[in-house]
Amino acid sequence: MHELPITQGILSVVVEAAQQANARQVLAIDIVIGELTSIVDDSVQFYFDILSQGTVAEGAALHFHREPATASCQDCGHTFAVSPPLFVECPQCQSTLIRVTGGNEFCVQSIEVDNES
Ligand SMILES: [Zn+2]
Repeated sequence: MHELPITQGILSVVVEAAQQANARQVLAIDIVIGELTSIVDDSVQFYFDILSQGTVAEGAALHFHREPATASCQDCGHTFAVSPPLFVECPQCQSTLIRVTGGNEFCVQSIEVDNES
């Protein structure tokens, strides 16, 4: 259920960017979501459709890009892709000193606006 505050965050970022660009309408929004986040695309879209009503971003298409999760081994430095449920050891040296280095991203990558009046 944490998609609501997340979606509010997206909307405020997008509306602010659109105002700075003197945009008439926001057409599309590219959003990057790490594979390890539990954010559900459909929920974000659902909240966005409600929250964006009456704003410059109303009707914008949301494009979600999933970033694969990555981890690096603290012993041998090997970096590798992981997917939930999380591994317990390095595939190269079997060390268990693993640090997750990617997959928790969440950001607005870019927005597409219409400036035509
Ligand atoms: Zn290793």
